[in-house]
Amino acid sequence: MSFYDELSSLPREQLKLSLYSIGPKEVESALVSSEGSLSSLMALLSPAAEPYIEQMAVRAKEITRRRFGTNIGMYLPLYLSNLCANECDYCGFSMSNKLKRKSLTSDELKQEISIIKRQGFDSILLVSGEHETKVGIDYFASMLPLVKKQFSYVAMEVQPLREDEYKHLVNLGLDAVMLYQETYNPTTYQEHHTRGNKQDYRYRVDSPERIARAGVDKIGLGVLLGLDDWRFDALMLGYHLHYLERHFWRCRYSLSLPRLRPCTGGITPKMPLTDKGLVQLICAFRLFNQQLEISLSTREPASLRDNLYGLGVTHISAGSSTEPGGYSNPQRQLNQFEISDDRSVSETVSAMVAKGYIPVWKDWQSEWINLS
Ligand code: SF4
Repeated sequence: MSFYDELSSLPREQLKLSLYSIGPKEVESALVSSEGSLSSLMALLSPAAEPYIEQMAVRAKEITRRRFGTNIGMYLPLYLSNLCANECDYCGFSMSNKLKRKSLTSDELKQEISIIKRQGFDSILLVSGEHETKVGIDYFASMLPLVKKQFSYVAMEVQPLREDEYKHLVNLGLDAVMLYQETYNPTTYQEHHTRGNKQDYRYRVDSPERIARAGVDKIGLGVLLGLDDWRFDALMLGYHLHYLERHFWRCRYSLSLPRLRPCTGGITPKMPLTDKGLVQLICAFRLFNQQLEISLSTREPASLRDNLYGLGVTHISAGSSTEPGGYSNPQRQLNQFEISDDRSVSETVSAMVAKGYIPVWKDWQSEWINLS
């Protein structure tokens, strides 16, 4: 049974009712439970857990310190292209938005790489809009070897691909795939994705399983917080993670918790998530899953990011650009969304070190996996 089948058979209304009718007793027992379960996750995500955020934070800190120490993995997004054949009403790259479109040539990519390498990064996230014909598997396969030569860890955040295409990219050095569901509410999903292949909700839900079968080391899941009821979407995200860990235990998993940000032609969040809510969410997932990596991008403001490290966040980006060619030739009108933390890499790192955390630039060498 695929996760899509499981998801479709869940009694959504009943689960939602339970989420909103949880009481303090269930939250208190979730707080002391040693094994994260879906019922504990539900309790910790519920409105009833709000008065317990401080206790949640204390436990989340202990768990994170025990598993990850004071290490924070550093990565940077590298935008390959802003071409997109989809219409998502929350994104600056939507096909109907009038912005200059660009895909990097191999020379431009090399220029971006040399600037990023000088800043010390060894882990890179390749990002593009979703345009199968112009920025598809052939383009990725031609660019990936150039990137892999320079970075030990290469992740991608592009359109969902077929299993054989993922396999091909794994053979070229791909280590991780980030693929966010945006929302697990199929009705809300259809409202926000009005043109293009991304309209296919099921294909997207099924994607992490294809990624896992293709042998990708790490899979990144996430929802766009604010599109729908963030508590329920986060709970469904927990169900998805739980399913994948049971069926594809060789993979590692990471979570991204982006909040809806202003963008070109974009929308305002239907259900905004406050800073306090974001803290609750991060702590709830840390208590649910002690191994989970949680990344936080520059969408969030500097002061908030600096205070979230110990609670469960394990990876951050710094000095990011969200436009193709943005490191060598910044133009801003090519941006996917506005960045909130616009500090330089060294400013971000200094603030991190001052708080007692250690930036980790390299934590992976794929060749070592096969050494006996
Ligand atoms: S969210 Fe992705 S698919 Fe949708 S418009 Fe933006 S880049 Fe394209």
